[in-house]
Amino acid sequence: MSEIPYKIYLEESEMPKEWYNVRADMKKKPAPLLNPATLEPVTVDDLSHVFCRELAEQELNETDAYIPIPEEVRNFYRMYRPAPLVRAYCLEKKLGTPAHIYYKFEGNNTSGSHKLNSAIAQAYYAKKEGLKGVTTETGAGQWGTALSMACSYFDLDCQVYMVKVSYEQKPFRREVMRTYGASVTPSPSMSTNVGRKINEEFPGTNGSLGCAISEAVEAATSQEGYRYVLGSVLGQVLLHQSVIGLETKAALDKYGVKADVIIGCAGGGSNLGGLISPFAGEMLRGEADYKIIAVEPKSCPSLTRGTYAYDFCDTGKVCPLQKMYTLGSGFMPSPNHAGGLRYHGMSAIVSELYDQGLIEARSVEQTEVFKAAEEFARVEGILPAPESSHAIKVAIDEALKCKETGEAKNIVFGLTGTGYFDMYAYEAYNNGTMGDYIPTDEEIAKSLADLPKVD
Ligand SMILES: *Cc1c(COP(=O)(O)O)cnc(C)c1O
Repeated sequence: MSEIPYKIYLEESEMPKEWYNVRADMKKKPAPLLNPATLEPVTVDDLSHVFCRELAEQELNETDAYIPIPEEVRNFYRMYRPAPLVRAYCLEKKLGTPAHIYYKFEGNNTSGSHKLNSAIAQAYYAKKEGLKGVTTETGAGQWGTALSMACSYFDLDCQVYMVKVSYEQKPFRREVMRTYGASVTPSPSMSTNVGRKINEEFPGTNGSLGCAISEAVEAATSQEGYRYVLGSVLGQVLLHQSVIGLETKAALDKYGVKADVIIGCAGGGSNLGGLISPFAGEMLRGEADYKIIAVEPKSCPSLTRGTYAYDFCDTGKVCPLQKMYTLGSGFMPSPNHAGGLRYHGMSAIVSELYDQGLIEARSVEQTEVFKAAEEFARVEGILPAPESSHAIKVAIDEALKCKETGEAKNIVFGLTGTGYFDMYAYEAYNNGTMGDYIPTDEEIAKSLADLPKVD
């Protein structure tokens, strides 16, 4: 075996030509999405009012393991992919661990995160269907940025509802979106029915992803030629993000490396789901075994403290019901700096894999996350996004465990993006003013009491 380079690049010709749909290999599938009005499983027709037809089909496809990546999407991928898999030699040395640490770096594009992988696919299908534009929500702003880039590439109008706290904390993200031609509205706004209602019920609210979703859906369904697109949580998004896992696996295979531990941060579950899909597929088919860890913030702990139940995906209760690990759609997470991880629920696929015991979950505190982020930045050179740093924290923990046991495990984690737009968060950490609000059992029980009654 040749020595492993710092960066393992695949050739363009080695890039995946198909996405992988892990649902095809799951014996027990995620529970069906339910129509919020009838509580019946949704059909492609139901979903087509909200989503593009082909994306609605992908959403409900649980039989095809491989779905071709359209040539136009592959051509766009070629501008910033294959993404490197980096051997963290410098971090290993600093930790003094016998473990081998690898990270898949998805921050090498202007949006600064993995979200472009799905944004470009969703914009492509919208264009193909002849739509005028799309609407969406964004939390920390990465998804809105990715989508505005994708829409400008395909010449589509892009309307973004941005969670208010991020709109105020991250003006530069907003301006990147506007530079790509998107219009950006702070959420909850006064321009939709659901926004006005939420503003009335929770005056002065910071907003949440759940309520921004409701506004974007309303905006899509009330304008001719528009559909709604979502950057996480959905099966279609995990499908597109499987490009991360497929490339990671191909790069490891190229050097004969077998991963032992695979780690990803989990907000709605899309990067984690995409990273682990091909590996989870091997586990489901009985071909290999891995330890897979989902990492979430202690301030928004859907897997570790939520309930596995049907819930609304949005605060306004207009989206289909999904069975998932959830804190309740009314859960308003405290303004944690990892905006991309402030979602009350979790992808149905990740939830089901977790319920089946294929995935473990851990929750970590904000200050320990930033400590890990700085440690990583100082030796590996990349300034990581706060979200990604949740995975760094647990990768370091696992590597330090190896130091105690003397095991040379292969630890792979997803470095989902860069943190250049998160400097207020780093400032708070550097000034020692960063806290972490951990919800009480009572607060979680209170929002769970409002789960919809299904069955
Ligand atoms: C959005 C985001 C996440 C979390 O979203 P998932 O759907 O859980 O992957 C993680 N990291 C970055 C950099 C993000 O932008």
